[in-house]
Amino acid sequence: MTPPPSPSAVLRLGDVSALRGRVRDWRRAGETVALVPTMGALHEGHLALVRHAQERCRRVIVSIFVNPTQFGPNEDFSRYPRVLEDDIALLAEVGADAAYLPDVATMYPPGFATTVTVAGLTEGLCGPVRPGHFAGVATVVTKLLLQALPDLALFGEKDFQQLQVIRRAARDLDVPVAIEGVPTVREADGLALSSRNRYLSTEERHAAPTIHAVLQRVAAAVRGGAATAPALAEGRAALEAAGFGPVQYLSVADAESLAPLERVEGPARVLVAAYLGRTRLIDNVAV
Ligand code: AMP
Repeated sequence: MTPPPSPSAVLRLGDVSALRGRVRDWRRAGETVALVPTMGALHEGHLALVRHAQERCRRVIVSIFVNPTQFGPNEDFSRYPRVLEDDIALLAEVGADAAYLPDVATMYPPGFATTVTVAGLTEGLCGPVRPGHFAGVATVVTKLLLQALPDLALFGEKDFQQLQVIRRAARDLDVPVAIEGVPTVREADGLALSSRNRYLSTEERHAAPTIHAVLQRVAAAVRGGAATAPALAEGRAALEAAGFGPVQYLSVADAESLAPLERVEGPARVLVAAYLGRTRLIDNVAV
């Protein structure tokens, strides 16, 4: 029997000039390039982004950078999982071409003073409860896009507000990179895959799929144009009964502007952020 092909080596790129040199050589050879930005602790959700990228482009670079500026002072930056060698092994298995692994000094050299902020889209949902978060995300993603200048960059719908913020920033700043969203990858019981799921205790893991069940229930209730408020109140109560708290938001919003909706008349999304014990979970579904 022929042995399965051994996983290809993943090129490790540590700084901007190594990244640009590699992308330049690929382009000279007529190859297209996709970038998948991540914070590592990779799971099947990240790998789905890589596979989508491979369908669109000849070469795929995955960046792994736990970005300090998108974490608040009381958030989990210091305990965020860092498992680089496991990540590289997964990338080799899926056949990614390169991992871009900048350190903090590469991304934020001494004297760094520029921030990208996106108005409007960041005013609701995660914006008010995570002050500075989206500025941190928009700034680091803008840098990654300009550093790599890929043809395409892919982001998960799991972080739907983040996806819209990135689309807006790239459009507004004329960043010459196409942005593509990829549907959320879930466990069989509906829980969206997340690097933070590993924080959940056995009991919390058992309760966690309620978040997806509630989203689906709200989506079904408001689909025909019924008022959103009663469905949201019922959903919030169901989350609290399952042990979630605080529920930071449960909202039906316009899929484009993310403005809250009293009734659904066009493309819309149901979005939630809630704590389960010490772990903050977010999720969303289309209506
Ligand atoms: P993170 O490492 O959490 O910053 O995520 C990196 C990228 O993977 C982001 O674009 C996320 O939206 C995406 N992502 C995370 N979890 C999932 C998932 N379960 N399904 C699809 N994409 C995901």
